[in-house]
Amino acid sequence: MKKYEIIIIGGGPAAITIVKNLKQKKEVAVIRPEDHSMIYCAMPYAIEGVLPFNKTLKNDKIVTDVGATLIRDLVESVNFDKKTLKTLSGETYQYDQLIIATGAEPILPPIKGTKLKQVMTFKTEDDLKKIMDIVDGGLKEAIVIGAGAIGIELIQALNNKNVKSYLVDMASTILPNMMDEDMITDVYKELEESGIHMHLGEKVSKLSGNDFVSEVIFESGKSIKCDSKPLIVFAVGMKPTVDIFKDTNLKIGRSGIIITDKMETNISNVYAVGDCCEYTSAITGEVALGKLATNAVPMGRLLAKNLLGDNRKYTGFYNGAATKVMECYVGGTGLSEKLAKIKGYDYIISKAKFSTAFPIMPFSKDVEMKLVVDKSTRKIIGGQVTSGEPVTDKVDQITMAIQYGITIDQLVQFSYSSQPYQSFFPANNLIAHAAEQAIIQI
Ligand SMILES: Cc1cc2nc3c(=O)[nH]c(=O)nc-3n(C[C@H](O)[C@H](O)[C@H](O)COP(=O)(O)OP(=O)(O)OC[C@H]3O[C@@H](n4cnc5c(N)ncnc54)[C@H](O)[C@@H]3O)c2cc1C
Repeated sequence: MKKYEIIIIGGGPAAITIVKNLKQKKEVAVIRPEDHSMIYCAMPYAIEGVLPFNKTLKNDKIVTDVGATLIRDLVESVNFDKKTLKTLSGETYQYDQLIIATGAEPILPPIKGTKLKQVMTFKTEDDLKKIMDIVDGGLKEAIVIGAGAIGIELIQALNNKNVKSYLVDMASTILPNMMDEDMITDVYKELEESGIHMHLGEKVSKLSGNDFVSEVIFESGKSIKCDSKPLIVFAVGMKPTVDIFKDTNLKIGRSGIIITDKMETNISNVYAVGDCCEYTSAITGEVALGKLATNAVPMGRLLAKNLLGDNRKYTGFYNGAATKVMECYVGGTGLSEKLAKIKGYDYIISKAKFSTAFPIMPFSKDVEMKLVVDKSTRKIIGGQVTSGEPVTDKVDQITMAIQYGITIDQLVQFSYSSQPYQSFFPANNLIAHAAEQAIIQI
């Protein structure tokens, strides 16, 4: 039986980050079943033709070049007492320390009709290949269910390939977990104007058809009738991949494996990181959604550093995230106004709108920021940005303010830079101005 100091189950961003950070200081094996690790975030852009398919595949060298052993197999069971695991191919491996990084898988809702042809979810290399083949085969109609970032990116890709496209969500707005409605009204209009048929506030109750789907039926009784062999993709959320542990004493909550702030599970020498874990919001302290690469990677990095002797603690999810909708870039972090209201915060909202360059410059675009401020502590608890240019830096600025407990009184003193091509006039700055507006209101 082959033994390793550390075995990592999974080949996603969390696992790869650990391997890269351990830097050959431990004898590590990574076990994953698929041909390639994927750059999931880029998958919609391969469908659209912005990138060739092979650019979405990670090279195995990122694992093997740092001295880890890559085993192409599926772990079927783990014996935590004996510190062994068994794989589909019949091998047994022994470990000193085990890291579970099994990720999450897309949810296919338990409704009638999901076994019909060309009904699928969207996560794996095979999913991507299948959608690209269907599009290349002359796909005429596509219905994406779920208007979160993945659904939005996918439907735009399909629409840009001249496929008649429908986007459905039971929420009344697009990007319901990332953005408040007031920040995406224009974006929504742009989506509609691009030709995408929007069906918000509609819950899919059934798919009907013989071979392929001929009708997508909503709980409201309304439906979408399909007149070709449509592609139906559910992008309605992720659930942790933890089935192989269900008969063990590993503690698992509703959204994943329960871990400490050092990624320890309830079993000694067994750690878990990334999408397979349940973790809390750094703001509310409650279990929060957070199946994002930008959570999985820092969790992996922290664990690797600790395994090499550091004593770092994970602070929790802030969930900074962004996407691109038509020519507009949008992003949000922390609590949306909607969530702050649900959670019972006494909050105020402030906004600032400037331009991405000096407004006198010919190419300058609008940029708007919204802050959600806790009235009692005067601290930022959330924020969103929409712009004609990328927003991740601005979203991260807000996250930093939340993360380090910066108050609006401190933010108005924010020291910034300015240049005609790159910012608004020196006369003002987006986050400092939004903070000033918050002070005026309080
Ligand atoms: C289309 C798409 C777009 C996305 N865009 C973004 C984005 O823009 N920004 C962002 O932050 N996040 C994005 N995400 C989310 C991000 O990809 C995930 O949060 C991230 O991949 C989680 O990493 P992970 O390593 O925890 O899990 P995963 O990447 O899910 O990897 C899990 C690994 O474990 C393996 N595994 C599972 N079970 C077993 C087993 N029994 N034996 C062996 N191996 C096993 C899997 O095969 C896989 O290799 C996107 C996701 C998708 C699908």
